[in-house]
Amino acid sequence: MEIGNIFRHLLLHNEAFVKSADATNFFAYATQQTPYITLLTCADSCVQGDILGKDIFNKTFIIRNAGNQVAVNKGTIEYSISVLNTPVMMVLGHTDCGAVKFATHACLTQSKEIVSLAKSFDNVMKTDYSTVSRDVKTEMLPLTIPIERGIPHLRKIQNEMKELAYLSQINVDYQIEKALKFYGDRVNNGKLTIIGGVYDFVGAYSEQLGRVLVTNINGVINPIDLQDKAKAIVKRIPNYDEANEGYKVVCHLIEEKVTRITV
Ligand SMILES: [Zn+2]
Repeated sequence: MEIGNIFRHLLLHNEAFVKSADATNFFAYATQQTPYITLLTCADSCVQGDILGKDIFNKTFIIRNAGNQVAVNKGTIEYSISVLNTPVMMVLGHTDCGAVKFATHACLTQSKEIVSLAKSFDNVMKTDYSTVSRDVKTEMLPLTIPIERGIPHLRKIQNEMKELAYLSQINVDYQIEKALKFYGDRVNNGKLTIIGGVYDFVGAYSEQLGRVLVTNINGVINPIDLQDKAKAIVKRIPNYDEANEGYKVVCHLIEEKVTRITV
């Protein structure tokens, strides 16, 4: 799209938003915000906040960078968790992540030992990253730490789409490890729950495109423990009743969506 149309869209879309927005929302939060989720996610344009629901106004404090890295926006995360006191931090990676691909390419070109362990990355290895600037490399190369951790397990998957999803999942685990170093005390005393997820828009986890899978809760990654943890969180809903149809739906969603690619 060329600049004239982009600028026109920008003006028109905002005006459409102004006409549809409820003014009372602005009055209520004009001088304060009370979000309940700190959402750390990738800057990729396929990832939009409304995958967690259409109404994200005053709900989600969104922090985005390439590869959903804690270290890149440490101060902004600190503000959201320690000043705004959001009870949930979500680290959300996604399938087919360009930053994960970059780090995978970097790992495979640097280590012959790793290349012999990863056989399916034909498409990633065809990409030419030689013109990537120093600033871009500096921000994305820390991702080679979790990616190196994940690559030795890939031989059991043998499918590039799923392997990349698995590496995004491992990166989310790594970022949660980092977050727990800073906010572990809040987690331990029940003030904060850190949820890890992968947004699947290629069908790596199921045929349901657009699903956000929950792959980590407070560092718990064993699939059975993860499901137990999710069910325990749901039971904290006031007046929880297992016989209620609404809760049955939630429990069914936990069975389907709280899951990991295992190797
Ligand atoms: Zn990404």
